[in-house]
Amino acid sequence: MTRHLLILGGTTEGRALAAELASTTYRVTSSLAGRVAQPRLPAGEVRIGGFGGPEGLADWLRAERVDAVVDATHPFAAGISHNAALAAAATGVPLLVLRRPGFTRVDGDHWLPVPSLAAAADLLPRRGERVFLTIGRQGVAAFAHLDGAHFLARSIDPPEPPVPPSFEVLLDRGPFTVQGEEALLRKHDIDVLVTKDSGGAATAPKLTAARGLRLPVIIVERPPVPDGVPVAPDVAGVMRWLEEPG
Ligand code: NAP
Repeated sequence: MTRHLLILGGTTEGRALAAELASTTYRVTSSLAGRVAQPRLPAGEVRIGGFGGPEGLADWLRAERVDAVVDATHPFAAGISHNAALAAAATGVPLLVLRRPGFTRVDGDHWLPVPSLAAAADLLPRRGERVFLTIGRQGVAAFAHLDGAHFLARSIDPPEPPVPPSFEVLLDRGPFTVQGEEALLRKHDIDVLVTKDSGGAATAPKLTAARGLRLPVIIVERPPVPDGVPVAPDVAGVMRWLEEPG
């Protein structure tokens, strides 16, 4: 019988998993939150929009006869990951988190790890006056009260207010190069980078560029994966999990 897999997506890994499963006998549905105006659509079936909390997700799993869920959401999308853990526990549907490893610090990095965007904002006044924010369009509000610094924020879609008084937006979704990132940091005279430990590769061009220019990087640490939920670091790990009996 065809097995139905729900991928909670919105990431490169989610799309890669859907593509990998396209040539198998699985029925695959990818779910996107609907935050991005023109999302990159994964292979297979796609549904867009929230489920209505953990109960709504549990209802959806039952109604659509889902056999397994892979939470391939962004490492910082803690709300949906929590909901998925609750819905899986309520329905008995097996759940796996597909979470790419975080960035790796190397010699020459000047990282200042913080537990939250609010903590990053607290640290900022002492660390720089021209800030490059690469935290996505959500979360800019955490910096809105800072009037002593200028912010350049890069995101796919424009951030919603409130934003800091001295603020400019760069709409771009990459891919980026070290050379391009270095040129951008120089052009805007950036003296501190604020980013999240999103991972996806050992490093990112912006981190390499910051290292080259000896800039401090305030890096927001990831929220934890919900207790007891197994984690795979890549698509191959998910494929192995799907082949496990039971
Ligand atoms: P979040 O705070 O964890 O989730 C908030 C609510 O959005 C959830 O309770 C759920 O609504 C809905 N939702 C989130 N992801 C969903 C999905 N894949 N399918 C259906 N509903 C979803 O999430 P977020 O941080 O706003 O991120 C939203 C989406 O953007 C995620 O899917 C994530 O993969 C992607 N993304 C996030 C970031 C980031 O930095 N946070 C970066 C890149 C991409 P209901 O309770 O109504 O079900």
